[in-house]
Amino acid sequence: MRFTVQNPSEALLREIRVSQAVARVQQLPTVFVANPLLAAFIAVVYWDHVFRTLLVIFVAAMIVIWTPAALSWRRLRDRPRPTKVSAINERRAVLFSFVVGLLWAVAAFVLFPAGGPEERAALVILLAGLCAGAVSFFSSSPKASMAFYLPFMLTLLGQAITFMAPRAPVLPAAIAVFTASAVLFTQTSWGQFVENVRVLVDRDRLLQEAQRSGVQLELMLSRMSDLAMVDELTGLKNRRSFFDDIESVIAGSRRRGKPIAIALLDLDHFKDVNDTHGHAIGDDVLREVARRIEETLRQEQIVGRIGGEEFVVLLPDTSPQQALIAVERVRKAIGDTPITAGSGVQVAVTVSGGIASLGDGMTVALAMQQADKAMYRAKALGRNRVEVFGAVEDAIASR
Ligand code: GH3
Ligand code: MG
Ligand code: MG
Repeated sequence: MRFTVQNPSEALLREIRVSQAVARVQQLPTVFVANPLLAAFIAVVYWDHVFRTLLVIFVAAMIVIWTPAALSWRRLRDRPRPTKVSAINERRAVLFSFVVGLLWAVAAFVLFPAGGPEERAALVILLAGLCAGAVSFFSSSPKASMAFYLPFMLTLLGQAITFMAPRAPVLPAAIAVFTASAVLFTQTSWGQFVENVRVLVDRDRLLQEAQRSGVQLELMLSRMSDLAMVDELTGLKNRRSFFDDIESVIAGSRRRGKPIAIALLDLDHFKDVNDTHGHAIGDDVLREVARRIEETLRQEQIVGRIGGEEFVVLLPDTSPQQALIAVERVRKAIGDTPITAGSGVQVAVTVSGGIASLGDGMTVALAMQQADKAMYRAKALGRNRVEVFGAVEDAIASR
């Protein structure tokens, strides 16, 4: 059975922005190395023309600014892919790129007059290259892009006009043309980004219409939603992205020699909720359940929606006993307070959970099977409870 996509434009926009932000994080090492290296190169070029202390301070400042970026990249490497880009992170990106842009601007302001034609040409070429890099690096965030390159390109332009015109108008003209093209390109690429989203939204809508009119697109649609990483109904990770993302987190936990737990959660008698209140209310309940699960768990615990009313959680650095405490909290968060759905109707739902530990060398598939067995035991023992795989099985085996 398929359920309609709630708000396709929002879901897609979010997804594209997230995947671009993820791509940016993956490129960070290159950017991190590039900036201090280019600063060092500039220092070498200007070595005989400027106070050397100043040049050393400049390179040191670059290293200081970029070190947190490198550290955050090391931290982010082991993290699962995010499903949202928060406004605060977006602001941080703009602020960070502005600070770095400003540092380059100061360098352009101080160094440009000191050098001869060769040094000036080297500075212009290098900053033009940085500017072009920034345009492509921040293509989904025009503000960050401009915050980075406008300060130093405008400073460079001002310096070129002051020190070279009217004897050599070529350099200022070249800088002006290049900067204008960069601004234009940033806006165009942003326009293209918005256009791409629109095309995807249209495609989504057309496919849904076609499906409603009876055309057999079931397979195609399910492949497409497989390609997406966010579950449209709840905003959680979908099956595919959950299993993709846990790999690196599992590897991280194993590297540190820590235990890992996996938990399955299945709503109790959910068919009855649909039968009593209808599908739309059922969907509201699923969204609220997803929200409560996410809210109750810690950030490094990864949640996915892997079936209609089935959720899965990976708990890194967690023993089965600790996992039981965490999942019990989730069970209570869902079962203790009825959910107020769309029209104000109160729906009480409970959830059953199964936990298995993902031992060394054990496959995720095997741990999922064991968690499933534990969950069915929870169902059989009366539902609204959480069971851990192993305890009972060990007891049976030792008899
Ligand atoms: P139990 O798990 O406690 O044994 O009972 P159940 O009624 O939850 O069991 P079952 O897995 O058979 O039923 C799941 C139901 O969930 C079937 C389907 O109507 C409903 N469902 C699955 N996906 C969705 C969805 O996306 N939206 C809504 N509204 N309902 C869904
Ligand atoms: Mg089920
Ligand atoms: Mg169920």
